[in-house]
Amino acid sequence: MDIGILVIGDELTSGMTQDTNSSFIARELYEQGWGVSAVMTVGDDRAAIRGGLDCLLEISDALVITGGLGPTADDITTAAIAGAFELDLYTDEAVLQQLKGRFSSLGIPWTENNAKQAIFPEGAGIIDNSVGTACGFLLDRDGRPVAVIPGVPAEARKMFSDGVVPIFREKIAYREHIAKRTIKTFGRTESQIDRVLSHEDLEIPGVSIGFYPRFPEIHLVVTSRGEDRDDVEKNLKIVCEKIEGKLHRYIFGYNDDTMEGVTAVLLTNRGLTLSVAESCTGGLITDRLTDVPGSSVFLEMGAITYSNASKVELLGVPESVIEEHGAVSEEVAVLMAEGVSRCPPERAPHAAGFCSGGIAGE
Ligand code: ATP
Ligand code: MG
Repeated sequence: MDIGILVIGDELTSGMTQDTNSSFIARELYEQGWGVSAVMTVGDDRAAIRGGLDCLLEISDALVITGGLGPTADDITTAAIAGAFELDLYTDEAVLQQLKGRFSSLGIPWTENNAKQAIFPEGAGIIDNSVGTACGFLLDRDGRPVAVIPGVPAEARKMFSDGVVPIFREKIAYREHIAKRTIKTFGRTESQIDRVLSHEDLEIPGVSIGFYPRFPEIHLVVTSRGEDRDDVEKNLKIVCEKIEGKLHRYIFGYNDDTMEGVTAVLLTNRGLTLSVAESCTGGLITDRLTDVPGSSVFLEMGAITYSNASKVELLGVPESVIEEHGAVSEEVAVLMAEGVSRCPPERAPHAAGFCSGGIAGE
């Protein structure tokens, strides 16, 4: 069995707000080596919350619940859970005083409805909230921990990582060990990569390869799972090395590497500068490059030549080539890159000119 996730809120079931808490929590659970039994969304409704709890507890070792802990009348999660588990509610004096103190230190007038956030089901352990007002709580349901935290995504994330994960670590066994590596590729489509990788030698028990297209890149997430930590690491290494052997030309980075970050390192290490000519990307490439700290060392200029006339006048692309091949063509892209590498015209060509069609000059 695994861990169930229940997200509560009318704004979620009505489609007004997109649920981001469950995907964050699911990712974190997987990172920690637990699995997810199911993710369920219900509205701020007692019967729906009870149904969600019953259903998830049937198939889960533990539950994480977010949403509906606020002071307003529509937030009924605490009362609904207490009702479903047949627990009385009590006011926690320490939490109440802490809440009043926080309101007065922030200069916010205290209103009585806020006292609702100090009410918990009997027997609950309190989960602190360092970023908001509503504390979470932990219940034990026949040996299965049930953690309840607020819905505000920033609070849910912090409280899940800092408050819930350590409790689960104590109470629930890991399903398995997990090791992951993201391999980032450029220049091949998903199906081309899939064809290269569909070989028996990549089929190692416990290792899976996930495709995550992040246009224009394709990321491959290699995940190795198993009971023995050393085997998990060893199998991950074997599969990653095999993928590298097959795709090496198209791999530009790993894990948190970005295309612009890798480009910046390559240019800086080689002492090269770069000018960018863009058309339909409207400055996107230059913008990403200027996000890299220290980009002034290598980035010379970015020219957004959107119209055909600007390609001709600023970059010297012959009109006849545009007429013959169209503005969106490899021929024009190469000439744009060559043109920008000569800018400004009185200067000698420098380093590389780049545009979405290719790289020219050096
Ligand atoms: P609060 O103390 O802020 O009232 P709460 O636990 O009652 O906390 P909600 O009232 O349910 O939280 O939601 C607060 C905000 O967080 C709302 O803007 C809501 O849209 C957003 N939110 C709630 N649940 C989710 C979720 N699963 N994913 C994304 N946003 C959410
Ligand atoms: Mg709500």
